[in-house]
Amino acid sequence: MQKTRETVLEIDLGALAHNYRYLREKAGKGVKFLGVVKAFAYGNDEVVIAKKLSALGVDYFGVAYTSEGVSLRKAGIEKPVLILHPQSFNFEEIIENCLEPSIYSEFVLKEFIKTAERLGQKDYPVHIKLNTGLNRLGFSEPEISKVLEHLSNTTAIRIKGLYSHLAASEDWKEREFTLGQINRFRKMAFEIVNAIGYHPLLHITNTSGIVNYPEAAFDMVRAGLGLYGFGNDPEIDKHLKPIGTLKTIVSQIMKLQPGDTVGYNRAYKAQEEITIATLPLGYADGISRQLGNERSGVYINGYFAPLIGNVCMDMIMVNISGIACEEGDEVIVFGKEQPVTEFAKQAGTISYELIAGISQRVKRVYLPE
Ligand SMILES: *Cc1c(COP(=O)(O)O)cnc(C)c1O
Repeated sequence: MQKTRETVLEIDLGALAHNYRYLREKAGKGVKFLGVVKAFAYGNDEVVIAKKLSALGVDYFGVAYTSEGVSLRKAGIEKPVLILHPQSFNFEEIIENCLEPSIYSEFVLKEFIKTAERLGQKDYPVHIKLNTGLNRLGFSEPEISKVLEHLSNTTAIRIKGLYSHLAASEDWKEREFTLGQINRFRKMAFEIVNAIGYHPLLHITNTSGIVNYPEAAFDMVRAGLGLYGFGNDPEIDKHLKPIGTLKTIVSQIMKLQPGDTVGYNRAYKAQEEITIATLPLGYADGISRQLGNERSGVYINGYFAPLIGNVCMDMIMVNISGIACEEGDEVIVFGKEQPVTEFAKQAGTISYELIAGISQRVKRVYLPE
């Protein structure tokens, strides 16, 4: 493996394949698999990730916004793409690009039917989102009759999927609530199935749901975080391989005397003679300001070097006293030596936010399977 000469997020496509195979097996035979590649595939580039997942046999993709789905189509991805959170002004573009909208409210349903009819569509595939307790998007139980009424008055759309989203699938203390959500979903979905007389794809589980509630896989599962190597639980993490390693290099080394200070606001003051290194990444790259002032650190040649002073926009400074290293040496920000989950905890957040927040300025490099 070549050492890096700049800040890069190194992405291991072999680890992605491993995670996909693990989750696919957990989902069970005959269950379709939707790979969630929203938010730049959680920071990993949705086009590269979707191409690899396509080759591995993923059935479906899911993204949050229409523009993300269009980017998959432009890259030649032909599998079905569910748009989880479209707006009515997106509907023409959705149809032009053969994307499948999530229909989550009566307004959205009416507007989508209008657009589909205007464009002469017949049986255009949509997924109906059911709210079972997350209270974010979706139809609640009393609204089902309205959904059915609108559907019975048009031939322009057809229900391809009925789905919901779990609020706390990773949290064992909320097991009863989650089972309640699953039961509510089953009841609501079957009310619709019985009325329409055909069986769309039912789907409710995300990564933690796939592992913790295998009985709720229904016809399809939707995995995001797990594909990228995290399972919201050390027990699940054991079976997954984080795909990303954030690397940078030592730009400059300096010696400081007692009383010298480091960085903006002079936030760090040397008590003794120390050696520091400046690294080319900062909060504009996704390194939270929370991590400064020794709340976290990086690894240089296998040794831990704490962040000192405030995180700058484009730089961080670390204490390398006693560490043998030179300008140009490789630095590991997160990866095997420093798990994302630990790093995220030190920043007061979760792995989802940390990896999705590595900015586009950081170059992505890929290790083939
Ligand atoms: C983001 C998202 C997922 C994926 O969740 P993970 O916990 O990352 O597996 C699944 N479904 C919906 C509706 C989502 O918004």
